[in-house]
Formats: sequence, structure tokens, C-alpha cells
Amino acid sequence: MTDCIFCKIAAGEIPATVVYEDDRVVAFDDLSPQMPVHTLIIPKEHHDNIGDDIPDDLMGYLFNTVKKVAELKGIASSGYRVIVNTGDDAQQSVHHIHVHVLGGAPMNSGSP
Ligand code: AMP
Repeated sequence: MTDCIFCKIAAGEIPATVVYEDDRVVAFDDLSPQMPVHTLIIPKEHHDNIGDDIPDDLMGYLFNTVKKVAELKGIASSGYRVIVNTGDDAQQSVHHIHVHVLGGAPMNSGSP
């Protein structure tokens, strides 16, 4: 999608601090980190959010990438939080599927 900022990151058209990349996904640090570790994982193909008709294996692939990112960022053993905001009530601001990986310090309760 031409005006999607995360498509542009996936295409290398705008800069990002890339943590991990392969043929299907890119992981990069969030521009406005909410935790010492705050990395986003996106699929290279565009889908607005998980409410879309997405390939069956895509979320599994993204979540297996979470484990890689956690290892690379040194938070695999201490624990981390994974968030996928979907739609307006969840305050999704970038409409290209992304998984937030947050960690690096103790967090409050995971309840909304
Ligand atoms: P969400 O609110 O779930 O849609 O999250 C979007 C996230 O993308 C926010 O945490 C933003 O800080 C982050 N973000 C927006 N633009 C960029 C960018 N160019 N590089 C890295 N992170 C970004």
C-alpha cells in the first residue's frame, strides 16, 4: 500500500532501527518506546489488522518471530508483554498489522 508507513519501512524506503528481518517479516524498534524494550514486528505484506482475511499461518509466523526478538533484545528469560492493537477502540494508529513486544523492566498488571 503506497501511503502506509510500515509498508515503507518493510521496503526500506524510510529508516528504522531493524532488529530482525527475513523474507516475511521485519522487526524494528518503536519510535516512541513505552518500555526499555519496545519493538514492533510487521509482516512485509500489507494487512490492515487481524480482522482482515489473512493467511492462516501469518500470525503464527509473527508470534514465532516474537521469540527471536525477545532473544535478540535480551528479555526472553525475564519476560515480556505482547500486544496487537486492532481497530479504533484499541487505539490502533498504524493500520498495518504489527505486534508490540514490550519488556526490559517490571510492568503493572496486564488487565485493561
Ligand atoms: P498502534 O497504536 O498499536 O497502532 O502502534 C503504532 C506504533 O507505531 C506506535 O507505538 C508508534 O510509536 C509506532 N510508530 C509509528 N511510526 C513509526 C516509525 N516510523 N518507526 C517506528 N515506530 C513507529
